[in-house]
Amino acid sequence: MKTNLYGKTLIQLEQEMIQEGQKSYRAKQLFTWIYEKEAKSFDEMTDVSLSFRLVLKEKYCLEKPKIFLEQNSNDGTKKLLLEMSDGAKVETVLMRYNYGNVACVSSQVGCNMSCTFCASGLLKKVRNLKIEEMVGQILVLNDLLKEEGKAEKITHVVVMGTGEPFDNYENVISFIRIINDQKALAIGARHITVSTCGIPEKIRQYGKEGLQVNLAISLHAPNDELRSKLMPINRAYPLKELIAAVKDYIQNSGRRVTYEYILLKNVNDSMQDADELTKLIAPTFAYVNLIPYNEVKENSFKRAEDKSVKAFMDRLVKNGVNVTIRKEFGSDIDAACGQLRAKSEGICK
Ligand code: SAH
Repeated sequence: MKTNLYGKTLIQLEQEMIQEGQKSYRAKQLFTWIYEKEAKSFDEMTDVSLSFRLVLKEKYCLEKPKIFLEQNSNDGTKKLLLEMSDGAKVETVLMRYNYGNVACVSSQVGCNMSCTFCASGLLKKVRNLKIEEMVGQILVLNDLLKEEGKAEKITHVVVMGTGEPFDNYENVISFIRIINDQKALAIGARHITVSTCGIPEKIRQYGKEGLQVNLAISLHAPNDELRSKLMPINRAYPLKELIAAVKDYIQNSGRRVTYEYILLKNVNDSMQDADELTKLIAPTFAYVNLIPYNEVKENSFKRAEDKSVKAFMDRLVKNGVNVTIRKEFGSDIDAACGQLRAKSEGICK
């Protein structure tokens, strides 16, 4: 089996080049070819000797995921169902904000976290995505942007697609190192966000990576009783442990976190919930991102009404919390996480 070059960090590739009896600068040269010059084959690499190109061809390949389905929204949002070399399918989304092009990347095929409101969990985890399969999601989106004829590329990445990134920790960190590398996709660390359902040990580890990347925590409830109902992970790691890990993360990384909070009608959208949330997160001096819920036919959760979203936000502001409401994209296509894939497999309507 050939090694996919898109799955290698620069440091790994430098070591491999040395093992091949080459100078380490070959790695930078290869990175420039595949990321900056967007070479599709080793034959294009004309400043690499013919004999070494043959060696490269023997050992490596340059393979990207294939587009299995593409949905385009009126607001410019693209949702892709990508097929990996073993036939596994994952969702990737492109959202166009005024500040840039945001890729929402999946980290696993399916998900085992079983959050009750989420469509991704309708299909259980089949496997972790490989590093090159995550890098590949960005490369495919960059190719589509190029086809549009603009000089635009993906500028921001959120690991908020299907899967729990901290259940595929090592691959996600290598993926970040590659897309952040100046010689590769040069996506700024502050433009990269990983979202987790809250695994304390990994949150602490993430804080020690020395990366200036962002962390978002899917909170969605202000107390253990409700959170354990919505998110089974809370039974293993209750809020006390989660908040303690976030505190350590802040201390080690010097960075603030964002709590994501989906507003579900009559479930977690009362004024009492807002006050309880304020108290819970006060020690971590964090941001709150309120998420309008994308309804999924397979469960009975309803999106909170606009007026309760506004009231919830106003209450948090009054309580001194830094709060934003997530802008919605692709409401005319299958916007909810995991919906497109579940639909294509006949699981979701
Ligand atoms: N497993 C990670 C990342 C994937 S989910 C996590 O839990 O954070 C990314 C975000 O989308 C999470 O905050 C998740 O709770 C939220 N989400 C899932 N289903 C949703 C839906 N139908 N509508 C709105 N947000 C949803």
